[in-house]
Order: sequence, then C-alpha cells, then structure tokens
Amino acid sequence: MRDALAQAARIIDTALDAGGRPCLTCSFQAEDVAVLHLLRARRPEIPVLFLETGYHFPEVLEYRDHLTRQWGLHTVSLRAGAPTLHPDTPSECCHQRKVEPLMAGLAGYDLWFTGLRREQSPTRANLQPDEQHRFPAGLTLRKVSPVYDWTTAEVFAYLAANDIPVLPLYQQGYTSIGCAPCTAKPAPGEHARAGRWGGNKLECGLHTVTIKEA
Ligand code: SF4
Repeated sequence: MRDALAQAARIIDTALDAGGRPCLTCSFQAEDVAVLHLLRARRPEIPVLFLETGYHFPEVLEYRDHLTRQWGLHTVSLRAGAPTLHPDTPSECCHQRKVEPLMAGLAGYDLWFTGLRREQSPTRANLQPDEQHRFPAGLTLRKVSPVYDWTTAEVFAYLAANDIPVLPLYQQGYTSIGCAPCTAKPAPGEHARAGRWGGNKLECGLHTVTIKEA
C-alpha cells in the first residue's frame, strides 16, 4: 500500500538536500497549505510567495493572515506595479496580475515548490513531482510538486490529522479557489477547476508560461 505522506516527504527532502534557494508559491488552497506545513517543519523561514491580484475573496486574505500569524510565516506578496487590466479580459488580466509578478518574484530562487496535483484538472494530468522549467526571459528553476499524485481526500485527511483549518469557502462548495470574479462552484461530477473562468479556460498561465525542460 502506498504511503503518500512518506513519498511527499522524500520528494521534499531530496530537493532541499540538493541545495539551492527554495520558495513556495501559495494561494492558501488546501494542497498548498499541506505542502507549506511539510516545508515549514524543515525550513520555517521559507519564503511563501502569494500573488496579490487585488481580486481575492476576503476569506482568502483573512485565512492567509491568520496562518501567517499563527505559523510565523515569511509571506511575501507579489503584485503588479500599476495594474490596468480587469477580469473581463481574463488572459491579459491574469498575465498582468499573476504571471508578470510571479516571474519577477521567482527571480531570486532556483527551487520552486508548488501544491500542484494531477487530479486538479486535465491540464495537470501529466505533472511530474520534480521538473526543470525555463521562463521566456531565461530564468530556469527546479519545480517540485510533492503532493503531485495526492487525491483530494488525502489532502483533506492530512490537514485534519494535523488540526490545520481550511479555507471556509470549501465548506460552501468551492473546490478550486482563485480570484472572486473568476471563481464559481463546479457542477456535480465536474473536475475541481471546472468552475474557474466560467469554464472558458483552466489555467491562469502561472504553470503554462514556462517551458518544461526535463
Ligand atoms: S483570475 Fe481573474 S481577476 Fe484574477 S488575475 Fe486572472 S482574470 Fe484577473
């Protein structure tokens, strides 16, 4: 029988032991918080990069602030300098408010932890736990996703076992939580990200702008 937790711990330890400057990108959704919990046990000071788009649910910001205080996190807000674009042009808005700040924010690191999971959407079905990525401007990073093959049930079981509260929006039926104007609850039977952007796209670009090299 597989031991999902031991596997995730091995992935993290292998990556950290190889050296480099680590960070975690974190939207404070359940899988990100599971990875954060595992990482902070090893590197309490690890930078936690949060994309401050200006359109988050208030519950997300409150939860972020609560965990930051409770766990003494080094949370770093990444934001566009003077954003002009809005959710009515989602590709451009996501690029300006998420992708560009992420590219700037990751420039100081070479080991990028994420909470990505294969089960989240068809666009993530082939995710590998340890990948090498290059941004269009040339920055290369090792991208590590320790819970890449965890199920949703395993994520929530891990959080419950460790007495970690979850975003209250999950209790309302949301299964993937991004900016408020672009997030809806999926219909029964749909995958977790089906409610994002009215079903018109599945990715904001954070995880598709790079070129996977290995
Ligand atoms: S998710 Fe919506 S509001 Fe947020 S950056 Fe993308 S288009 Fe803009």
